Amino acid sequence: MATNKKPGKWRKRTLGVRAGQERTPFQETSEALFMTSGYAYETPEEAEARFKGEIGGYQYSRFGNPTVSMFEARMAALEGAPVARATATGMAAVAATFFCALRTGDHVVAAQAMFGSCLHVIQQILPRFGITHSLVEGADLGAWEAAMTPQTRMLFLETPSNPVLSLVDIKGVAAIAERHGALLAVDNAFASPALQRPMELGAHIVVHSSTKYIDGQGRALGGVILCRQDFLDKYLQVYLRNTGPSISPFNAWLHLKSLETLDLRMQAHCDNALKIADFLAGQTKVTKVIYPFRPDHPQYDLARAQMDGGGGVVAFEVEGGKAGAFRLGNGLKLIDISNNLGDTKSLLTHPETTTHQKLTPAARAALGVTSGLLRLSVGLEDAQDLCEDLGQALKAV
Ligand SMILES: *Cc1c(COP(=O)(O)O)cnc(C)c1O
Repeated sequence: MATNKKPGKWRKRTLGVRAGQERTPFQETSEALFMTSGYAYETPEEAEARFKGEIGGYQYSRFGNPTVSMFEARMAALEGAPVARATATGMAAVAATFFCALRTGDHVVAAQAMFGSCLHVIQQILPRFGITHSLVEGADLGAWEAAMTPQTRMLFLETPSNPVLSLVDIKGVAAIAERHGALLAVDNAFASPALQRPMELGAHIVVHSSTKYIDGQGRALGGVILCRQDFLDKYLQVYLRNTGPSISPFNAWLHLKSLETLDLRMQAHCDNALKIADFLAGQTKVTKVIYPFRPDHPQYDLARAQMDGGGGVVAFEVEGGKAGAFRLGNGLKLIDISNNLGDTKSLLTHPETTTHQKLTPAARAALGVTSGLLRLSVGLEDAQDLCEDLGQALKAV
């Protein structure tokens, strides 16, 4: 296959459209979908040489696939990461990151505000293998430092966090990890590489649910792990090869093509989200609005420093607790009720009764998940139509 033009010093919009493309002799303009599980060899000698690693080339799609490779190369270019590996889902990426590198006796420090399944892996699954953890208030750098032990091998965080959009200072936590010889892994699903590139801030590993903004249209599951070459060689590559959380070439192709519009879409999500956050802040029945790029966000300065936009999610609280939140949900005529996010369609979630239902009331309180809290994943509809829908539904609260 012919490699497309060299990335050089391309800017992120160009990288999103062009990076990683490999053309077949047909010279197709749009990237090819290689829907194949296996590959043929001209001779047994060639098969032997490929298995020995003496020559390049694909062997089996659990190990690698040309469409998946293009998606990985484009993700690496956008994140400013040396290498990337795609997985079937975001959770496969998170789990592989832990399981490829950790062993019995290791300790993990993580921010307590995180996606529910990530918390489950850390709190319920890792302990079965003798891997312990400490959960800390992510915004408090002193708490990270205090939780470090000689056994701490990995730090894990998500910023902005789900659902209350609290931020963690990536540079600050990366410096703590570095001092203690531990690895910092950042879940970058909420921001996407269009708005935040943790590896440029010192993170060693970035994980994504590409199901969210990278797909951006609510179609296909996927995940990505981005890391340095030594982490890939020492831990990740052999783990992925043999445990098989591989992404389907079809899903990788969808996400590869979606990266071409990621920057444009994220800009539009951010513009819409800020307009809606400002609109909600002016409504009498709304008691609180949380959006990282509004000056009243408690970590506004940090948001401006480490993000290129506030993202597509707005959290807000309505009067009347759960009953008020449900009345708002029942009054919507345009916005859908869904626990998903990062879609072109605006989606509203009531975290207390859905995504955060399994937590204890105390754990919910610690995360700021109150009865009246709603999370809105702002889509790409006209902001005026979204404000009108929220405005009319708020009358019922
Ligand atoms: C959705 C999500 C995940 C899990 O991704 P899946 O693709 O659903 O497996 C992990 N972290 C964050 C922050 C998410 O939003």
